[in-house]
Amino acid sequence: MNQNQQLADLLFPDVSDDLSLLEKKYPPRDLPQGAMVTRFAPSPTGLPHLGNVFTCNVDLRAARKTGGIVYLRIEDTDAKRAVDDGIAKIISMLGEFGLEFDEGPTLDGGEKGNYGPYIQSQRKALYHACAKWLVVQGHAYPCFCSAEELDARREKQTEAQVAAPGYFGEWATCRNLSLDEVKKRLESGQEYVLRLKSPAKEGDKVILKDMVRGEIEFPANIMDIVLLKSDGIPTYHFAHIVDDHFMRTTHVVRGDEWLPSAPVHLQMFELMGWQVPEYIHVAPICKIEGNSKRKLSKRKDPEVGLSYYNELGYPKGAVIEYLTSIANSSFEEWRLANPDAPFESYPFRFENMSVSGAVFDLAKLDDVCKNYFAKLTAEEVYAGYLAWAKIYDADMAARLKADPAYFTAMFAIDRGNEKPRKDLYRWSMVREYYAYFIDEDFEKMTAGGYDLGGLEPKKADMAAALTEYLKIYDPTKDRDEWFAGIKETAAAIGYAPETKLYKKNPELYKGQLSEVAAMVRIALTGRNQTPDLYSITQVLGKDRVTARIQKAIEAVK
Ligand code: GLU
Repeated sequence: MNQNQQLADLLFPDVSDDLSLLEKKYPPRDLPQGAMVTRFAPSPTGLPHLGNVFTCNVDLRAARKTGGIVYLRIEDTDAKRAVDDGIAKIISMLGEFGLEFDEGPTLDGGEKGNYGPYIQSQRKALYHACAKWLVVQGHAYPCFCSAEELDARREKQTEAQVAAPGYFGEWATCRNLSLDEVKKRLESGQEYVLRLKSPAKEGDKVILKDMVRGEIEFPANIMDIVLLKSDGIPTYHFAHIVDDHFMRTTHVVRGDEWLPSAPVHLQMFELMGWQVPEYIHVAPICKIEGNSKRKLSKRKDPEVGLSYYNELGYPKGAVIEYLTSIANSSFEEWRLANPDAPFESYPFRFENMSVSGAVFDLAKLDDVCKNYFAKLTAEEVYAGYLAWAKIYDADMAARLKADPAYFTAMFAIDRGNEKPRKDLYRWSMVREYYAYFIDEDFEKMTAGGYDLGGLEPKKADMAAALTEYLKIYDPTKDRDEWFAGIKETAAAIGYAPETKLYKKNPELYKGQLSEVAAMVRIALTGRNQTPDLYSITQVLGKDRVTARIQKAIEAVK
């Protein structure tokens, strides 16, 4: 038996180095030509934030538009930094944004998909099989150097003015340990890490093809990087190649902080004899501040945290549409050409991503949300608002549940027509916007009197107008009849029943038609400006209209 095989059996006595079994267990996926397999691979070390949603959405858009697969892989090799319920939080918080995976861990603690386990801490057997294979091939070896020894070596390298200090070439002393030496050290219980034996030498070059950045030439990796730590857990580098190979990822979308490590990954794929996936290195999201562009910061920018969107009630679908638009430079043009298409049908392209970082702008997000709200049906607004209110406004949720027909009718006002209003952009604005439809809120608004604005000097006319209006008010009247009633009211109190008439001879009248409409509006809603007044009276219904008009008459008399 050759020395490498003996070393491999010594290090991994119970592990098979026959990778063909794994190849069979995780075969290439049976997908249509061109279908992408992407993955979102977070570490459960904190709550997901806007950057995660951005990257994950890119994974999803790419896979979905090609009829491919997107899976979730949990990279929990750093147990010390894991947070409680980290995995569940990742799944549920991304799920709230509509980011759902085809494969991966599930909320019930299980998982779906045939390429698992999808949690790295459960994949030790795979890493060890590949590690053993590398030892057999002579591409990996155990290193027993202690932290002190590594420090001392580093100092020597600094003295010797080694350009890039590290564990490599002739400095990599454990490369040359004999089998007997290794055996002795293992027997004495010495700890070791497994290192890659880099075949590259100084001056070698390697080219990374990145789908966003194009071809980038790097110096080849010459370091004997660590594959398995002393507890047998893989480093990111090793886990990345093993997982993305056996999970059959076609496109690796990841943060550009990994760009400098790409030469290590290319080298390892080559040593394993595996096909290199496509790489997409994503720059962090930025914002414009003054004249400069800077990365969004967790500390300075509250919009980085997902709770920001939850509490303010941004519609998640709109947030995702906006993130898609800033991820791809041609989105806006596509949107103009396809105003009504679902954003999911946008032909997402990695090549249209920004190298320097997508720019996030809250004002633009608000615009996208306004358009999003304007397209919802009344039923969708009701359902979306109820879902939000259940968490953030229990009192409102109870009201919504008690009278779905009333609130759905309210949401239907000025909706579903050619030019829907675009006032709303967050769920947290809804109650205030429609406050006069909620009796208690209306009471509070008008408890201290009505804000009459420019009509203040015409209080007596208002009392007269409302008294007339009450006489002719009939909820069965259609829009035209109702409007005729407003004109009659105007005429009855000496105001012009037509705008034209007033314009021609203002001296003949005490006021104009629009003022009468405003008086009714203020009495019914406490506001000067509202959506369509006729619709409002219809939704409020006879009892409320009558009571509110009477109350206003008393208040302005
Ligand atoms: N766990 C790595 C991270 O969160 C994943 C990088 C990757 O997608 O490969 O940065």
